Amino acid sequence: MARRILIVGGVAGGASAAARLRRLDENAVIILFERGPDVSFANCGLPYYLGGEIKERGKLLVQTPEKLGANLNLDVRVRSEVIEILRKSKSIRIRNLQTNVIYEEGYDTLILAPGASPLIPPIPGIEKPGIFSLRNLVDTDRIHTWIQNQQAKKAVVVGGGFIGLEMAEQLKTRGLEVALIQRSAQVLDPFDPEMISPIHQELITQGIDLRLNRQVIRFDDTTPKGNSLNVVLDDNSSIVADVVILGIGVRPDSHLASDAKLEVNARGAIKVNDHLGTSDPCIYAIGDAIEVADPITRNQTQVPLAGPANRQGRIVADNIAGKPTRYRGTLGTAILRIFDYTTACTGANAKALTKAGITFKAVYLHPNSHAGYYPGAHPLSLKVLFSPTDGKILGAQAVGKDGADKRIDVIATSIHHGGTMDDLVDYELCYAPPFGSAKDPVNLAGMVIQNNINHLVEIIHWSEVEGRVQRGAKLLDVREPKEVETGMILGALNIPLGQIRSRLNELDPSSDWIIYCQSGQRSYNACRILSQHGYKCCNLSGAYKTFSAAKSMGV
Ligand code: FAD
Repeated sequence: MARRILIVGGVAGGASAAARLRRLDENAVIILFERGPDVSFANCGLPYYLGGEIKERGKLLVQTPEKLGANLNLDVRVRSEVIEILRKSKSIRIRNLQTNVIYEEGYDTLILAPGASPLIPPIPGIEKPGIFSLRNLVDTDRIHTWIQNQQAKKAVVVGGGFIGLEMAEQLKTRGLEVALIQRSAQVLDPFDPEMISPIHQELITQGIDLRLNRQVIRFDDTTPKGNSLNVVLDDNSSIVADVVILGIGVRPDSHLASDAKLEVNARGAIKVNDHLGTSDPCIYAIGDAIEVADPITRNQTQVPLAGPANRQGRIVADNIAGKPTRYRGTLGTAILRIFDYTTACTGANAKALTKAGITFKAVYLHPNSHAGYYPGAHPLSLKVLFSPTDGKILGAQAVGKDGADKRIDVIATSIHHGGTMDDLVDYELCYAPPFGSAKDPVNLAGMVIQNNINHLVEIIHWSEVEGRVQRGAKLLDVREPKEVETGMILGALNIPLGQIRSRLNELDPSSDWIIYCQSGQRSYNACRILSQHGYKCCNLSGAYKTFSAAKSMGV
């Protein structure tokens, strides 16, 4: 008899699993249950449709139930909510949301791909009309219609994560005034604060009213009562909004699993093994609803991203079809465009490594996105975190107007294969002047790490400068006087790189010298000169650019 494989959730993970399963098993009965009216739609495209960049709604529908039925012989049941898993009888109960009829289907194997639902905090007034979260096309249509019908001009976005920032950008692009409220001191938590300073600057430059360290305490009606709201913040200021978007985070939509006594973690994420099997051997789980391993910190975590959900869909299908395949964890490789800037990251950041008790160092580079002499090059800031014992790469973050994506993709690939500084140096990456440099920023990062680990130069981080100075170290700025005029670290002596050899007598040989320039390259050269003359010195990684970015973040 044909195997019966039932799937709960018909978007990223569920639809991928169903399609792969059919390709591997022509005879299986595969039924996909989706609570909403659409399957396999482009969640990641929703903000861009709301902003008007994606013009046709239909483009968001990657597949339809009809196409999946015809092309893959899948039985796709939309508006069908799975309400219970009956593990003993290996069946599920489904409510047809159109007819309200409840029925049962038996399974040999069940895949849970229910995703994650937006967090809706219990803020007074949160139920008022005009306040939305964004998860699917139904939400998108509601927001679109509200903005049109109310002729909304002012928006408040609550939450500075990926979805919050995409919505802030897109609502602004649509012509609304936008305020962005973020509880902590920085947007985009996966990034370290000093890397995020250009993003804050870009938000402000583009006219977003950025409110950091602020929380919404209630939503009031405006007086006289209209359709707008007063969004009241914890400093008692308030912002008028015709539309409010909540982007506060998500939580695994896993109540089916917990009700069925499958193992879940404290945050509700379904626990799975390497083969994505749950605590019941007949039930698998994938996507935003599961707990995954962080390959760097070895901690269990949740990473709600489309790439992992899609890959897990394929892997689960392989395992069910008898092709044992391991899921090797989620690095959290992610990217965001915010107006003219792109910011991307992979692996662990400093906060995560510190929390996990992992010893690390970081190098900062500020190279050009492609050869500086070719028109259109933009500065790119790159931070690479590594193990100081063997140069193993632990994480990376990049921000700039161009080239962040490809550098982070290369480093993500490297981390996936256990890459070290030597690998980054050795990579042969494509190069012609419009695209990169003969020494790509990825190669350069490897070289800077090698120079440090091989004791050619000691590096210190921006956060260590104050302590070292208090312990008697002196600061040497090797930039040109014109650059120094734009700002310098208090108390530094300025001797441009080209004059160092002739002015050595001005430098106390018994002192510990912290050397910096604008991006770190000239100060590295200065360090090499000084150390070969017997001076004790170190290079401020990322130099003045990173130092001033960190200071502008108040860290
Ligand atoms: P989903 O794709 O959310 O699918 C789960 C489905 O299960 C839902 O449609 C739900 O209705 C259904 N379901 C739940 N419970 C039941 C039930 N009991 N019965 C029947 N059906 C049920 N990720 C990126 O990597 N890059 C991006 O740029 C990006 N942008 C995003 C933008 C937005 C606005 C959103 C909302 C998400 C974005 N994501 C992005 C995240 C990405 O979409 C998710 O990580 C991914 O879709 C997760 O896949 P999933 O299969 O686990 O869940």
